[in-house]
Amino acid sequence: MSNSNTRFDIPQSEIPTQWYNIQADLPRPLPPVLHPGTKEPVGPDDLAPLFPMGLIMQEVSQDAYIDIPEEVREIYKLWRPTPLLRARRLEKALDTPAHIYYKYEGVSPSGSHKLNTATAQAYYNKQEGITGLTTETGAGQWGTALSQACSFFDMECVVYMVKISYQQKPYRRAIMETFGASVTASPSDTTQAGRAILERDADSTGSLGIAISEAVEAAVTSEGKYKYALGSVLNHVLMHQTIIGQECLKQMALADEYPDVIVAPIGGGSNFAGIALPFLRENLKNGRQTRLVGIEPAACPSLTRGKYAYDFGDTMGMTPLVKMYTLGHDFVPPPLHAGGLRYHGMASIICEMYNQDLMEAAAIPQMETFQAAITFARAEGIVPAPEAAHGVAGAIREALAAKESGEKRVILFNLCGHGHFDMTAYNAYFADELSDYEYPQAQIDAAMANLPQV
Ligand SMILES: *Cc1c(COP(=O)(O)O)cnc(C)c1O
Repeated sequence: MSNSNTRFDIPQSEIPTQWYNIQADLPRPLPPVLHPGTKEPVGPDDLAPLFPMGLIMQEVSQDAYIDIPEEVREIYKLWRPTPLLRARRLEKALDTPAHIYYKYEGVSPSGSHKLNTATAQAYYNKQEGITGLTTETGAGQWGTALSQACSFFDMECVVYMVKISYQQKPYRRAIMETFGASVTASPSDTTQAGRAILERDADSTGSLGIAISEAVEAAVTSEGKYKYALGSVLNHVLMHQTIIGQECLKQMALADEYPDVIVAPIGGGSNFAGIALPFLRENLKNGRQTRLVGIEPAACPSLTRGKYAYDFGDTMGMTPLVKMYTLGHDFVPPPLHAGGLRYHGMASIICEMYNQDLMEAAAIPQMETFQAAITFARAEGIVPAPEAAHGVAGAIREALAAKESGEKRVILFNLCGHGHFDMTAYNAYFADELSDYEYPQAQIDAAMANLPQV
């Protein structure tokens, strides 16, 4: 019998003390990351201009668990453990026999899961004497989180914000500035990379790939003052997020249930990994069979329609080459509203999981995600971020499938952020200004022709 409560809380003493590193348990190891010039595997020294050694060692570590520093855990206490809720009212609204649970990461001060890794990254940089961090932000969630984390550790924060978001989300910029960050619309004329893009296309609305090029350049030309921080994709970022799933394991036990399926949106893969990896460990080590389903936008379908090949992480080809399901590094996504999901590539860990059949993926069109978000909001009282709405839509699909087949499926999804700064998108939806967009195959094929030769 499942527990009759709606909310499942664990005490602060049960905030995880370690991050979980899936690299220790993956059946096949991750493919090597290659130097963009030599095409040889990169070593820690190649990454040193960008990241502090503490994070580089985590990036390549094969240890299953890594201790969370006490200072980081103390900051986590500002919002963790985050609640796990059973969506009883949504179950009723859908008239489904499924039990639907959601982990709510929107209670963090930044409003999303991103602060989990931002705090850790700022800490390790501070430890090594770095005075500030450069980064990019799409929807603004990551920039907000990093600006808060930098202010916790008294560091500077330099943010390149994708131009379309900069224009659509003025309050995001104000929040980042509240925490002392400097925010520049990307592409900008402050970097060589930005100027090169503007020369080609003066009206460019930007992309995450372009903003990454600018932020990386700003770090490597700062003469050691700044390093660069990435909010997703990298192994250490996904690892920092595993506190989400570790908490869920304990909270699902409180609910006396175990998930048959876990659903989360995937942009770069970090919130999905955060909730899914501790359960993947249970699948691999303890014979559990939870299905893990990543949801991407139909307008940016890296896993479901991309090619598994070596590609750059940024647009200008400055980053190392990573093997990933990619839409091509010069992919410029349509300006859909889930800005945080508009990335051409995907975390190496997620790509290997997909390639090794350890997870599933589905692409959901924009209109369905907003309909799902509104159904969820009216039942549960929380307005999801447009990115998070992809996870909601995926969970609703699972619940309706359970209704169809009459089975009592236990569904767990990650509500990775609230949408309070994204109401422009909801406005556009209510004004009937949004539509569905399938990324054209011809454009994918064209981008594939520009993949680097490895
Ligand atoms: C950044 C972000 C995403 C996408 O990034 P992932 O690394 O895939 O998690 C999704 N949802 C929210 C709320 C975000 O802030």
